[in-house]
Parts: sequence; structure tokens; C-alpha cells
Amino acid sequence: MDGRFLENPRPLERSLEGVRLLQRTLSRKRFLSGNWFKTKTRLAKEHEHLKDFRRDLFFKVGALLSQEYDLLVLEDLGVQGLIQSGTKKRRRLRLHDSSFSELRAVLEWGFRKRGKLVLPLPAFNTSRECFLCGGINKGLTLEDRVFLCPRCGFSLDRDLNASLVLLKRVGWVPPFWCACG
Ligand SMILES: [Zn+2]
Repeated sequence: MDGRFLENPRPLERSLEGVRLLQRTLSRKRFLSGNWFKTKTRLAKEHEHLKDFRRDLFFKVGALLSQEYDLLVLEDLGVQGLIQSGTKKRRRLRLHDSSFSELRAVLEWGFRKRGKLVLPLPAFNTSRECFLCGGINKGLTLEDRVFLCPRCGFSLDRDLNASLVLLKRVGWVPPFWCACG
């Protein structure tokens, strides 16, 4: 736990953008026309490319993390992430969720292979609980990127706070940890 975030690398972002663009183009073509088939084929290729790229990336991340760390604590996001209103949002979350479970499987495999510990925890209130005092921010939504504790005023990036809450639950307390980096 060092507060590092892994960002989507640029080629992955480009590929995602490409898929989105092609999907838009496809929706404008006449169904089953020559151009429709052409775009459809290109879209399928781009999808394949994206999948390969993502898998490759996951394995690299898995290898890196399992070399550097001895313990992997995971949050079971499955059910919670899917209970969201609105069709658009649901689709987005489900997509996100399917690549998340793939990453998760690769990570677990990497850690187990090196004989390291994997601890899955139920995702109960991890994002809403204050790491410092245990206070609950009931109003926190998925859109809020920063956690703010209504009890003690502690504020931190929501994902960092959730990670610290998870680690606290397995009995690990950071020896020294400063929000200002
Ligand atoms: Zn607090």
C-alpha cells in the first residue's frame, strides 16, 4: 500500500476510443449494406485487439504487483456495483465489472503462483466508512471521488480511503501514512 494508482495506458484508451467511434459509425450505416458489413468487420477486429491488449496488460500488472507485494486484499464488488438505477449506467458498470473480474482472476493467479496470500473481503461499506474514526458517510455516491467524514472531517481520495479501510479490517495499520504524499 503506497497510494499509487494505475491508470489506463494510452494505447488502451485509444483502442477504447476506436471501438466507440466504430460503434457510432456502424449505427449510421444502413443495416446489412456493404458498408455496414465493412464497419462491422473492422469493429470486430478492434474488439479483438482491445481484448488481447487488456489481457496482456493484466498479466504485466499481475506479475509486477505479485513481485512487489506479499498480500493481496480484494473487495468483492460484484453485487454492489450492479445495483444502480438507469439503463445506461447499468451497462457501463457491467462492462467495467467484466474486465474487473478478469483482472482480479489474473491477479489472484499471480499471487497464488508465488505462494503469496490472497484475502477476498465482502464489500460492506468500505467506500463509506472513514478510515480514521469509523464514521459513515451515508451520502457518498459513485460520482464523489473524494471521501469526506461527517464525524471527524477526514478527507481523502475515495479509493485510497476504501483501500485503507480494507487493510484495517485485516489488521494492518500503516506505520506512517501522509495524505500530502
Ligand atoms: Zn472520521
